[in-house]
Amino acid sequence: MDKIVILGAGESGIGAAILAQKKGFEVFVSDFGTIKPNYIEQLEKNNIPYEQCKHSEDIILKAKEVIKSPGIRNDSPLIKKIEANNIPVISEIEFASRYTNATKICITGSNGKTTTTELIYKTFKDAGLNVGMAGNVGKSFALQVAECNFDYYVIELSSFQLDNMYKFKAEIAILLNITPDHLDRYDYKMQNYTDSKFRITQNQTKDDWFIYFAEDPITSQEIKKRKFIQKLAPFSLKEEQVLGSYLKDGNMIIKLENNEAIMSTENFSLEGQHNMCNSMAAGIAALACNIRSKSIRQSFETFTALEHRLEHFLTIRGVKFVNDSKATNVNSVWYALESIKTKVILILGGIDKGNDYSELYDLVKQKVKTIVALGVNNKPIHDAFDSMIDVIDTNNMENCVKTCFYLADKGDTVLLSPACASFDLFTCYEDRGEKFKEAVRNL
Ligand code: ADP
Repeated sequence: MDKIVILGAGESGIGAAILAQKKGFEVFVSDFGTIKPNYIEQLEKNNIPYEQCKHSEDIILKAKEVIKSPGIRNDSPLIKKIEANNIPVISEIEFASRYTNATKICITGSNGKTTTTELIYKTFKDAGLNVGMAGNVGKSFALQVAECNFDYYVIELSSFQLDNMYKFKAEIAILLNITPDHLDRYDYKMQNYTDSKFRITQNQTKDDWFIYFAEDPITSQEIKKRKFIQKLAPFSLKEEQVLGSYLKDGNMIIKLENNEAIMSTENFSLEGQHNMCNSMAAGIAALACNIRSKSIRQSFETFTALEHRLEHFLTIRGVKFVNDSKATNVNSVWYALESIKTKVILILGGIDKGNDYSELYDLVKQKVKTIVALGVNNKPIHDAFDSMIDVIDTNNMENCVKTCFYLADKGDTVLLSPACASFDLFTCYEDRGEKFKEAVRNL
């Protein structure tokens, strides 16, 4: 029996283990940290051997193939050793795709992946299609391939997952945008990160779709360098497209080879230019799968905005509070500020991944009254903004929210859109968003 080793016993690792066992492989799961109790339960229930708090190289190096969690770096000593032994290292998505004939709609980009994935999933489900969703939320792709029988999968793909994908093919590939992020995993080279994102198009044939943002500078530069046989469907905020999607007179227009749709955007539940991009991408994917225009529009109008993403959750004495804790890079803050029509008290800060804040200067000058910095080290925020605006230091959420409320006038918006990771003061972005909402409710 061929041996498969799975590194990392999180959602994707457990799913891969269950699928591999079902397909008749001898499976071993190894995690260098401690495995969560519910995952241990699943491993034991399925009689899958595993280890935690160590990696036993003697077992791992006997594998025919290794399935690696996206969290483990490709340049870690263990992965290098595995590769030196000519053992292929693949992602869970790559592995699971071998066992399904479903149509795969795959979404990548620096920002907007989860929103777009959820929007497409809802649109397909509302249209009555037999569809599963995989990626960051819910059950892993592998587990669903093992246990369900979907005709369509909507899959969110990070660059880390794409890095270990080789034969996988997306029937519909969506690249939302490319802006600097995670460069520490790409030798600080933008081209490496770009190449990783473009892996979403690999293996596509002339019958497949590649959907991308026409105005994204990095994407359009890269497209000029490459040859495509697949069908290209760009979406644009500015210009009419022959094939793809654009906006005109309050309508979203989608044009495919034999299919066209036009729908009013007036009642779309997602607001802001960035969400128009996400909606156009989702609309193209839906029309390419023959979902009717009316059904697409209804799904877009009834979509519930996701938590921690431009989430307007409360207004107190005329001051609006918006939780955009998921904005962990500068580009998403730009879109948040762009979408807000009032004056803003902006909460920035946390763990700065080497941000270049200059992209925000124009919008900050136009809309922001004061920046409230929330982090253990607020120096990068001061360095970037002191010369143009007041930056006030805070180092806990309660104090930060009280300061913002004190500074805000009726009609203003307090926006938590930090441009930074949250691990200095919080366990994760969800924790930061929850604590923000709690502090606001306690005002
Ligand atoms: P991801 O899964 O790629 O991290 P999310 O949908 O979780 O994306 O959104 C992350 C952040 O980016 C949020 O602050 C959201 O408001 C913002 N955002 C969403 N879509 C886009 C987009 N197309 N371009 C830029 N920012 C976006």
